[in-house]
Amino acid sequence: MIGSVAKKALEADLGPAIAFDVPMSKHTSLRIGGPADALSLPADREQLRSLLQICEQYDLPHSVIGAGFNLLVKDAGISGVVINLKKIRRLEQPGEGLLFAEAGISHATLTRFCVDRGLSGLEFAAGIPGTVGGWLRMNAGIPDREQKDVIREIEVVSANGQEQSVLPIEELDFTYRALRGLPTGAVIVSGLFQTKASSKEAVQTEVRRLLERRGQTQPLDIPSCGSVFRNPEGDHAGRLIEAVGLRGERIGGAEVSTVHANFITNQGGATAEDVLALIERIRERVLKESGIELETEVCIVGRSS
Ligand SMILES: Cc1cc2nc3c(=O)[nH]c(=O)nc-3n(C[C@H](O)[C@H](O)[C@H](O)COP(=O)(O)OP(=O)(O)OC[C@H]3O[C@@H](n4cnc5c(N)ncnc54)[C@H](O)[C@@H]3O)c2cc1C
Repeated sequence: MIGSVAKKALEADLGPAIAFDVPMSKHTSLRIGGPADALSLPADREQLRSLLQICEQYDLPHSVIGAGFNLLVKDAGISGVVINLKKIRRLEQPGEGLLFAEAGISHATLTRFCVDRGLSGLEFAAGIPGTVGGWLRMNAGIPDREQKDVIREIEVVSANGQEQSVLPIEELDFTYRALRGLPTGAVIVSGLFQTKASSKEAVQTEVRRLLERRGQTQPLDIPSCGSVFRNPEGDHAGRLIEAVGLRGERIGGAEVSTVHANFITNQGGATAEDVLALIERIRERVLKESGIELETEVCIVGRSS
């Protein structure tokens, strides 16, 4: 809950850029999630920084979401202010091969930009749904290529909104599906990517090839959050889940996809509790039968009821 004094300060500063009691099911690809106390879409960096300062002043927790493609929000919702950067979306080519993208740029916009200009390097990410902020935070990728291979630096705003700094790749600790070591509560506001000149046709052909492959191997027409578990060293979570016979397993409205066993889909009316129970069932069964402890890749956020 946000107290009335803090609420007034937020309203005064952000006006229509903040709303209260917002169902997160409308902001996640799983279409699941209880209400955030507040959801804000700052119009620019200045407004983002002033929002963070208000959060600091009134001791309000804040969290950031991208496009919600890797989020499981609990049914009881999220405490404090959820920040969505989708209005912060400058995209330009500051120099030879360089691509500057603010955090709110979507995967589709970035891909179109690269295709139109024949910029090669980011084709692998064309079908990874989300925003630049989410891609970088998750080190999103495919088996042989990820963000760390194409990023030169990222820009972050500190949790209290006071400082903005540029972190070069040498200072970034990218690991499998994570960027570790960011200052607590820091918000990624942009990334500078390295691409190389190619032709529109070549980039488009590669993007199409990868998108087609996804269409054949992933359930893209039904709500999901992509891979639920990280692949354990030398193996695939999907293979392990299939091997223990859980493909198609269902709890409430949540189902282990019959197309890709590492995806959990919302077949309609699924709750976070359904998904969490299914995650637990998978973990227990895989541990019992293969001795491997699966770790979740999906970010599970929100308060317990
Ligand atoms: C059908 C499907 C296929 C997918 N395929 C892949 C794949 O092949 N490879 C892959 O890696 N992922 C895949 N994913 C998962 C997802 O696309 C990626 O994790 C993506 O990076 C999520 O981006 P997002 O903007 O939606 O982030 P969100 O899901 O909104 O957030 C993810 C995390 O990033 C943090 N975050 C977001 N923005 C910021 C910011 N500006 N500053 C600080 N933290 C931030 C959030 O707090 C959260 O912890 C898939 C998902 C789906 C639904």
